[in-house]
Amino acid sequence: MTLRSSVKIGFVDDVTLSGDLQTVEQDIITIASSHTVTGLRLNTAKCDITMDDFTNIDTIDTFKDFIRVPKDDMTLLGAPVVSGNAQDTAIMSKIDDLSRAIDRLKLLHAHDALFILKNSIAIPKLLHLLRTSECGNNQLLRKSDDTLRSGLSTILNVYLSEDQWLQASLPVRDRGLGIRSAQMLAPSAFLASAASTLQLQQFILPYTISSLEDASVESIEALWVNVTDLPEPDAEERHIHKAWDGQVTKHNRELILSRASTDIDKARLRAASSPHFGDWLHAPPISTVGLRLSDEAIREAVAHRLGCRACEPHTCVCGKAVDARGLNGLSCRKSAPRQQRYSHMNDIIFRAIKREQVPAINKPVSFMRGDNKRPDGTTLLPGPGEIFGMGRDSTRHLFGVTPGQHCGHTWRCSQPSCTTENRQVL
Ligand SMILES: [Zn+2]
Repeated sequence: MTLRSSVKIGFVDDVTLSGDLQTVEQDIITIASSHTVTGLRLNTAKCDITMDDFTNIDTIDTFKDFIRVPKDDMTLLGAPVVSGNAQDTAIMSKIDDLSRAIDRLKLLHAHDALFILKNSIAIPKLLHLLRTSECGNNQLLRKSDDTLRSGLSTILNVYLSEDQWLQASLPVRDRGLGIRSAQMLAPSAFLASAASTLQLQQFILPYTISSLEDASVESIEALWVNVTDLPEPDAEERHIHKAWDGQVTKHNRELILSRASTDIDKARLRAASSPHFGDWLHAPPISTVGLRLSDEAIREAVAHRLGCRACEPHTCVCGKAVDARGLNGLSCRKSAPRQQRYSHMNDIIFRAIKREQVPAINKPVSFMRGDNKRPDGTTLLPGPGEIFGMGRDSTRHLFGVTPGQHCGHTWRCSQPSCTTENRQVL
């Protein structure tokens, strides 16, 4: 079977043909008559035809059942081909889907809802459209972002100002929540996609079309440069999404830091970019392994990360004044959640050790003995030079303090000051 149209694109059982009317008609007849060879029958009731003037096809039987689609509404494999009505319709459809999803996510626990929104619904549902259609200039993306921001605020129960939303919409490694803004992402996604598919486009399209300059790429490049005020990525990196988006996020990250007016805000932003500081945002909320946070814990974690209002100003039980950010709770000596976090951390480590089938027991009944020696029973079967128990010393050891540095409470302690009497032999 040979098709003669100037453009022939096939994907699974979808075929797109473009060319003069007679050639396309002949190709369709060829496809329809080849079903015994290909095993595919043409369903003309689901076929689209797009052209400037449909009056020419009224007398052609081949096209009589085809759906007539105006040029502005034309889509290819779910992607709008030109800016205009089709693009607006596609974005509005995504906004409606997002609104419906957020209405349902409000019924879930905050951690579950945040995880689903971040990894399955917000940008993952929109990314195909952003990569395949030049919608960086489309104002409907603003509406999409507003819907997302409003939904995120409701799910987390925190108010997000412009700066806080800007930070939330950055990747986790760049101090954000990983709930990306469509407006911020669109130019980078399209430019990376255009560069990575350039060779394929030139292979598919006839020379008369592929030799033309792509005006959509030029306009989006201008938009990208206008936003970042930085040079474009090198030729060998232009197909990498991160090469474009990384510059945009870097620009916004520095913008947020420059707007921070207090030392507390600057410290918060620098801390938020520390390694592993945002790992909890990647963790799936699985209750059985203790990774699921309560609604209140999620609200406070997000509020502290973004600098949101966390509570009403009040006086703490320890006597200190607590401002709207509620930071006193992180250092308050009478803070009950602080003890809970400590216990929770021990519990997670204990479960990890048990999972490896290493015999261990959780925290000893009494931590200090009357003679100031460490309690026995922190480890049943220690490995060479290691402690596996759950006491404070073992926790420190697991986080990088080697045994012996804290004065000889392991049977292999080699610190000179540690007397034999102080050593614990299990
Ligand atoms: Zn306090």
